[in-house]
Amino acid sequence: QEGISVSDLGQRMGIRTAELIKKLMGMQKMATANQILDADTAELIASDYHWKVERVGFEVEDYLPEVEAKAEDERPRPPVVTIMGHVDHGKTSLLDAIRQASVAAGEAGGITQHIGAYSVSTARGDVTFLDTPGHEAFTSMRARGANVTDIVVLVVAADDGVMPQTIEAIKHAKQAEVPIVVAINKMDVPGANPDRVKKDLASQELVPEEWGGDTIMVPVSAKTKMNLDLLLENLALQAEVLELTANPARPSVGAIVEAKLERGRGPVATVLVQEGTLKLGDAIVTGTHYGRVRAMNNSRGESVKEVKPGYCAEVVGLSGVPTAGDAINVVSDEKAAKQIADHRGMKERQAELSKVSRESLDQLFAKT
Ligand code: GDP
Ligand code: MG
Repeated sequence: QEGISVSDLGQRMGIRTAELIKKLMGMQKMATANQILDADTAELIASDYHWKVERVGFEVEDYLPEVEAKAEDERPRPPVVTIMGHVDHGKTSLLDAIRQASVAAGEAGGITQHIGAYSVSTARGDVTFLDTPGHEAFTSMRARGANVTDIVVLVVAADDGVMPQTIEAIKHAKQAEVPIVVAINKMDVPGANPDRVKKDLASQELVPEEWGGDTIMVPVSAKTKMNLDLLLENLALQAEVLELTANPARPSVGAIVEAKLERGRGPVATVLVQEGTLKLGDAIVTGTHYGRVRAMNNSRGESVKEVKPGYCAEVVGLSGVPTAGDAINVVSDEKAAKQIADHRGMKERQAELSKVSRESLDQLFAKT
């Protein structure tokens, strides 16, 4: 239900909040400055001060640009990959090894920054990795409605085999209907037994291609960097098979991968662009925060002017620290962005207040 806070109503009419609270008390309504009044009450009070309340149906979607999806605007985009697997099977090592290899290959040879995601080039196209391994990140993003992962790389140590968290990861990926590519890691270890891993996975309904199944399994070593290129190419290939596309020309939509408050820079958000091209100067809104893209940099620390779908960047310019998993939208201008953010903030407070009053009611009834 829509409404307006006591202080907002007072501000708009040029009446002190305290006076409105007193007036409400006269109407047998106990209120605080932040309390949200329903439209009827607001109307009643406003009319006493010779104001008229105009009821406007406010839908956030009205402020988001409408987009007509057209097949001819679609372009291939890199797959977004999350690495999952049992603890100590080499998720972090693999992410680091892939990133290091890509930096060494680049002419800049620059220092990589941890920004929560990075992209690497392969002979078959680019691949973007979410730099937070583990199924917690995966499920918490999904819980917020962000289905950002296109492919799960399931890491299984060749010397340890399928373990409880391996099975857990398979379950999560299947639930999300995200295809799995298996990296059989630690192939350099003397006790490595990839065939046992394949057999165990087959009984989890992940049958390797060479056994007539449809799951790509690549034996790798994060330590010796064996077959990392092959793994990457297979991921790019999988992206082709999945026909992953996006429209770089439409107003941008993305997902917050991670966010923090940084001294000197303010709120900094790692954004995965999912549709459209995110550009410097764009008016943005995410959750209850808004702003303008003041600066962007990629995982190599290079400042960039725009980010295409399937790529990530750190974005500076938001009014607050957003929540991982939340959507981020480009809107027409900063005023619209602020309106959406404020509206969401009001709704949040409204929900909070109604929860509090419900709780106190429950307490009241519990006592009697
Ligand atoms: P995570 O818990 O899945 O992130 O696993 P880590 O990346 O932290 O790796 C766990 C341990 O395995 C560390 O001591 C790594 O050095 C080691 N490790 C990871 N990959 C390999 C590999 O390919 N070969 C060998 N020999 N050790 C590895
Ligand atoms: Mg780790």
